[in-house]
Amino acid sequence: MDEHPQPDPDPGLSPDPEGAPDCPDARIDAQAAADLDAPPGFKDLDEYFAWLQRLIDGDPGRPEDRPEFRGWADPEPGPPPEPDNLGCGISISLGDATDVDPALLAAMTGPGGLGGMLPAPLFAQEAAADGLRPSPVLAALTERALAGGLARMTEDELIGVLRASVRLANREGWKQELLISEFARRREQAKDAETAAAGGRASFRAGEFPGEELAVELAVSPLAAAEKIANAQDLTRRLPATLAGMADGLIDPYRAAISAEGTQYLSDDDAAAVDRILAAFAPGRRASALARKAAALELKLAPDAVKARKEQAKRDRQRVEAGREKSGNASLAGREMDTADALASHAYICALAARLRAAGVDGPLDALRVRVFAELTQGRNPLDLIRTASVSASDPDPGPEPATAPGAADDDDPGTGSWPAWGPGDPGYDETPDDDTPGAPRREPTPLPALVNLLIPADTMLGWSDAPGQAAGWGLLDRQEITDILRAAAQHPRTRWCATLVGPDGTAVAHACADGRHPWLADITGPPGAPPDPLAPQPQPPPGPQGSHGQRAPNSSGDHGGRDGPDPPQAERLAEIIARLGLTFTPIAKGGCDHGAAEDRYTPSRKLRHLVRARTDRCDAPGCDAPAIHGDLDHTTEYPAGPTCQCNLGPKCRRHHRSKQAPGWKLQQTQPGVMRWTLPSGRVHTTTRTVYDL
Ligand SMILES: [Zn+2]
Ligand SMILES: [Zn+2]
Ligand SMILES: [Zn+2]
Repeated sequence: MDEHPQPDPDPGLSPDPEGAPDCPDARIDAQAAADLDAPPGFKDLDEYFAWLQRLIDGDPGRPEDRPEFRGWADPEPGPPPEPDNLGCGISISLGDATDVDPALLAAMTGPGGLGGMLPAPLFAQEAAADGLRPSPVLAALTERALAGGLARMTEDELIGVLRASVRLANREGWKQELLISEFARRREQAKDAETAAAGGRASFRAGEFPGEELAVELAVSPLAAAEKIANAQDLTRRLPATLAGMADGLIDPYRAAISAEGTQYLSDDDAAAVDRILAAFAPGRRASALARKAAALELKLAPDAVKARKEQAKRDRQRVEAGREKSGNASLAGREMDTADALASHAYICALAARLRAAGVDGPLDALRVRVFAELTQGRNPLDLIRTASVSASDPDPGPEPATAPGAADDDDPGTGSWPAWGPGDPGYDETPDDDTPGAPRREPTPLPALVNLLIPADTMLGWSDAPGQAAGWGLLDRQEITDILRAAAQHPRTRWCATLVGPDGTAVAHACADGRHPWLADITGPPGAPPDPLAPQPQPPPGPQGSHGQRAPNSSGDHGGRDGPDPPQAERLAEIIARLGLTFTPIAKGGCDHGAAEDRYTPSRKLRHLVRARTDRCDAPGCDAPAIHGDLDHTTEYPAGPTCQCNLGPKCRRHHRSKQAPGWKLQQTQPGVMRWTLPSGRVHTTTRTVYDL
């Protein structure tokens, strides 16, 4: 997901961990019920249509004052009353001093200011600064409170300063909305002007990629930047109450985004009414509660738009997403699924897991659900795991149906009888007999195709890297993970093997590719650094030279089994792998280019593509993190003016490949792999070759 330290970006659909029941589908049901719960005064469609008619007739007045909004607004909307006790013997007016004279500010907050006292006591509950609007004065007071020593604050003061700091940050968020909105307005203007000039026929227009441009400056994904732009425009154009709440420090950017996204499909009038309700509700409320309220209002006011949005999301963004957890484990999820499908799949998984548990398979229910999920999606029958609990897999009734199995109704019994008839010929079908150790439900993964790139420190050539491996888009892998992946990959006919030599500075020096299937690799061992496979023949350690010790990559941690360098058998095995793969290395251009690997055609060969991607393993746009392996190779200077050569090629994700061609964007490759990007704003960003963490 994204770069924000934010709560879940989909709060509307995410289960709230607080006091939630165990099964997520129950949570969704409860939430859906809450969302659909109609407010008093708006019980049926007739009333709704009557209200719509009044809207169409231009009925004046605040919509939320009408009966249909009864129960939605807080009893007393609006910001909480200002604290009126500005006690503590200080008589300067701290109220709305957002543009206080800097000299005065210095006098107040300097060593001689504030009567010589530390400001921390001002932040005690209901003291002068507690609840004060964000302003330069409040900012200075919090700075002074911290300078006075955290240890000297009471906890009451500590919390008061913390809350003041949050209000200040919220106001900073307000500034950002204004700035982003103005930036987007200028890009829109440029785009409209160009469209008008070109009669709407230009393939790339100025201002067409404001998200891409902003993403570079904020170091977020273009998608996240586009969302920021859309929200900022909504807030400044249609949601004045929420925007004012941010300026007052009462609403944070995250909650403002919820309100913006929740009103996106409403008419301007509806959005304005909902804005006032949500702005009054948001301060001090949990984001999930705000999201529910926004979703319920939206569903009531624009049910067709909600439906259309769901359909569009299914069309545009439905996918199976594999990702990385913060822990380093992996995740797999179907995104933008049909709700009924998701609930049915989840219920089926729950029922199978409950059945495994009832039949004596060990493990927490959640872990069994994940096991079932993995078995199902790799074309295996999860109920075969029951054999490990001494129940025959051929038994059509492997155990009593647990009474608590969610969704395990009789007519969709997930037992072996209703198991989909997968067999030999189906993708992923595993016809080898299951010879697992009893009690160990974990099994070898299904063969998978992969582009395996062995990263080898060049200064040791056959030395050993303790560094973790990397898989495109998956980040760092530990040695056991690499071993598992390599074993699975070695058995797949589409797997390709490459090796990249990495110089002492961490950049790629040379690359070699091997064609064809090499299943023997699965038998030899894991990758560099992996623990030896106990099943593989162990080469005897030759009387290795002492010099093999210390041939480790720089920065290696060395905390693996007490070894302090590559041991000879491992080095020998790596040498054997390279020899058997028949790898011949081609140098990667650095500094200058002799065009030795240049090709006399537009489309680069696989070999040249690999050289460029080994040099630069991510999209070379600034701030972009898209793996090069999934993207395009772009001629920096268009072919044939620019050659098909390492010095004129760079990997791009699809978005940046397109944005690079838009007016205002400029790209130069000043050296092989050194990319100088000039954005429409005129700001320049340079990216360089990949530095591998070996
Ligand atoms: Zn290669
Ligand atoms: Zn060249
Ligand atoms: Zn990119």
